[in-house]
Amino acid sequence: MDAINTIGPVGFVRPTWCEIDLSAIDHNIAQIRSLTGDAVQVYVCMKGDASGCGAVPVALRAGKAGASGLTFGNIDVAISCREAGSTLPILLYPGCLPEQAPILERYDLQPTISTLEDVKAWSARVGTRLSVFIKIDSGGFRAGAFPHQVAEVARAVVDSGNLHLAGVYGHALSAYGGAVAGFVDQQIANFVTGIEALQEAGIAVPLRMCSSSELLLSHPGADFNAVDPGRLVAGIGFKAVPERIRAWRPALVGLKSRLVMVKSLDRHDGVAAPPFFVLRPGMRLGLVPFGWGDGHPRHLSPDAHVLIRGRKAPLLGPVHSELLRIDLTDIPDAQLGDEVVFIGRSGRYELTVDDLAAQWREPAHDVYWRIGKTVHRVYVS
Ligand SMILES: *Cc1c(COP(=O)(O)O)cnc(C)c1O
Repeated sequence: MDAINTIGPVGFVRPTWCEIDLSAIDHNIAQIRSLTGDAVQVYVCMKGDASGCGAVPVALRAGKAGASGLTFGNIDVAISCREAGSTLPILLYPGCLPEQAPILERYDLQPTISTLEDVKAWSARVGTRLSVFIKIDSGGFRAGAFPHQVAEVARAVVDSGNLHLAGVYGHALSAYGGAVAGFVDQQIANFVTGIEALQEAGIAVPLRMCSSSELLLSHPGADFNAVDPGRLVAGIGFKAVPERIRAWRPALVGLKSRLVMVKSLDRHDGVAAPPFFVLRPGMRLGLVPFGWGDGHPRHLSPDAHVLIRGRKAPLLGPVHSELLRIDLTDIPDAQLGDEVVFIGRSGRYELTVDDLAAQWREPAHDVYWRIGKTVHRVYVS
């Protein structure tokens, strides 16, 4: 174990890692609570391995930070959080099957119901009792009952005898078609129509939830009595109305590796430079173990660079599956084993998530999701 620890920074061998600051999760949940007030429950959406921050550590931390519940797209990830000790209520977005009901009962996971067929199929497989959420399709044409159908589906849940209605939720899609005037407002209005239909039918619905990160910041009227932001909890901000502007702290604070080879290209006697390579006089080449197989984009932008010894070093294409070239010519003291910074500080320079996103020609939230499972997550404070 000691030998391993001396190779990587904290007990793994491949010297490529992300640094996640879990105190950012505390901060961001506290900010969300200060915006919505105590009457509103905060379910943290854990999709994408908690936006790339690692589902288990984020689930446990969110519990301590006062989250009311968790939501998952992937049931396997939800189970891993339960097994790691998370006791928060868990809602599963669509992604599992009624025949798996005994597993959901064992792990206390609440599935999504959209249709009368769902109610029948789940009820037939449930042993004693299972809490469920009904989703309202407010105009995304994805999962959920349309507003005029929701009372009928909810009535079937209540009458089933073994399903308990824990709440209803919706998801006003803003990323697709958000530019169309009124699209988001229309979806919120449709969600309200569904809730009113439930009220008229006299069906009690403990939780009513439709705000993801973007809605939480842009539509304060849509808090109802629960919200389910994901990316915001990881510190990825979105456009906010003035009363919802807050400082969000990114949980992803580092993406780093180390030079695993350094060589001079001066004496390549008789070996021609490859067609993709522009050889400079006195050129020194470095290699870093990070590539497209780890989430780096396949194409390198002309401004792509890293930090080494407090200086900027250009990356050289092509990008390989698990290796990148670095032009070390202007950093003559660079050595085998030196730290290579994609996100983080080096001397007087710093690269932020936004800087890397700009180099990658990606929105910042995609950087979080892109960095693959092959890259170790290290938790720092
Ligand atoms: C993904 C998702 C969320 C969270 O979205 P963010 O943009 O990460 O806040 C909330 N609700 C549903 C139904 C989702 O699918």
